Amino acid sequence: MIDAAPIASHFINGEYVEDKDGTPIPVVYPATGEVIATVYSATPTIIEKALAAAKAAQAEWAAMTGTERGRILRRAADIMRQRNHDLSVLETLDTGKPYQETSLADATSGADALEYFGGLSGSLTGEHIPLADGDFVYTRREALGVCVGIGAWNYPTQIACWKAAPALACGNTSVFKPSETTPLCALKVAEILVEAGAPPGVFNVIQGLGEVGAALVTDPRVAKVSLTGSVPTGKKVYAAAAAEMKHVTMELGGKSPLIIFDDADVEAAVSGAILGNFYSSGQVCSNGTRVFVQKGIKAAFLKRLSERLANAVIGDPMDPETSFGPMVSEAQRAIVESYIEKGKAEGATLSYGGNRLDRKGFFLEPTVFSDVTDDMTIAREEIFGPVLSVLDFDTEAEVMARANATEFGLAAGVFTKDLTRAHRVVAGFEAGTCYINTYNDAPVEAPFGGSKLSGVGRENSKAAIEHYSELKTVYVRLSQLEAPF
Ligand code: NAD
Repeated sequence: MIDAAPIASHFINGEYVEDKDGTPIPVVYPATGEVIATVYSATPTIIEKALAAAKAAQAEWAAMTGTERGRILRRAADIMRQRNHDLSVLETLDTGKPYQETSLADATSGADALEYFGGLSGSLTGEHIPLADGDFVYTRREALGVCVGIGAWNYPTQIACWKAAPALACGNTSVFKPSETTPLCALKVAEILVEAGAPPGVFNVIQGLGEVGAALVTDPRVAKVSLTGSVPTGKKVYAAAAAEMKHVTMELGGKSPLIIFDDADVEAAVSGAILGNFYSSGQVCSNGTRVFVQKGIKAAFLKRLSERLANAVIGDPMDPETSFGPMVSEAQRAIVESYIEKGKAEGATLSYGGNRLDRKGFFLEPTVFSDVTDDMTIAREEIFGPVLSVLDFDTEAEVMARANATEFGLAAGVFTKDLTRAHRVVAGFEAGTCYINTYNDAPVEAPFGGSKLSGVGRENSKAAIEHYSELKTVYVRLSQLEAPF
């Protein structure tokens, strides 16, 4: 049905594997509501096969030089770029995101991660620490072992690569479970890694709901778990991993503030608010959904925001002109609609959108609420959809206190022409990823991740290496060894 689609549900030990004893999981194209494929949830036999394959492959993979591993990752990056069109079409089918976006931001971002960590792989070393009398310590940077990755549904290719690339670069092997909502893209990543020369078992993909993820997390062969998902899931996975003292990376939800001061460039601030709320139909964890606008610029900001939202091309995601697609699923649209109803009921002003589109698929208009106050549900809870809330403020001190008054801490942004204020404001943000006069950039060279309930650890950049390897300390004595008796 789909060109270049994966040919079975799972990818284990270098090949596609099917097991129809598992519960069927329909794959629905969000733009039409049609079932375009079916995968089967991993049975205990499949889970066992995947973990056994990853465990068996690990020692040999770690024994290769970093340069050899890196060459394979960089070759995989090249293949991903050559196949960007097909991979982008598959990403659009999996998620409903417009091809205009997927062709720029998904396989390309995955390829960046494979290339970046492929480049770093050969340079990963320990250090030499001199001591008295010629004695010394050296450290070995060693792989953790088998790493489990569990993905959310908004960036299925990117999430698979952001977890696979640093894990594999450090000499780990991996079992990845994509979200049950978008199961297809990670299989292509596994296929490409093998084509690039990754030995069988180094990167495996199995399907399933939360219980498959939970079975992976608790298996004693697993040394590390990296989850991208919601805070409630994060708490469960973190607790299960803690029981066996496993390493974790948690990339969780957010309710990030975006502060726009009176002196900001209105067009740039509106661009930031659009990029921080409506890309991927608002289904981005780091979105700046609480837009604090200083009172002097509010009227101009709201006017330009509405004018520019009217330019959004909403429709067939495969049409390269389309700039705004459907929500990922009927269920997610229903959640977002219930928040829109709460916004209205709690007294916010609906300034733009708020309605379904009268067409097949899970379309919802870009939506803006103004006159939102801190206590309203839409200002406190993660909506994960195209709903922007505008909150008014007077002073910097006031807005900083309000921006930080949240249990989340994923991202935060500020628009102002006053650079001194900009740096002061970001220093005061309680958030892992901050932006000045921009929003939602995520280059592989920069650490990405959250503080507070939004997560633990960092993805991308050299910082990720710390989360996929550990140091072994070796004491070496050259001087005479003495003992008390
Ligand atoms: P989710 O928490 O419902 O599911 C995430 C993944 O966890 C899925 O693969 C799911 O099957 C699995 N899972 C569920 N229960 C589990 C359990 N008990 N043990 C192991 N695995 C389990 O999240 P979602 O709805 O797929 O994604 C949306 C959420 O992800 C939002 O909160 C969003 O902010 C967050 N997110 C965060 C980032 C980030 O980098 N910080 C990126 C994208 C999405």
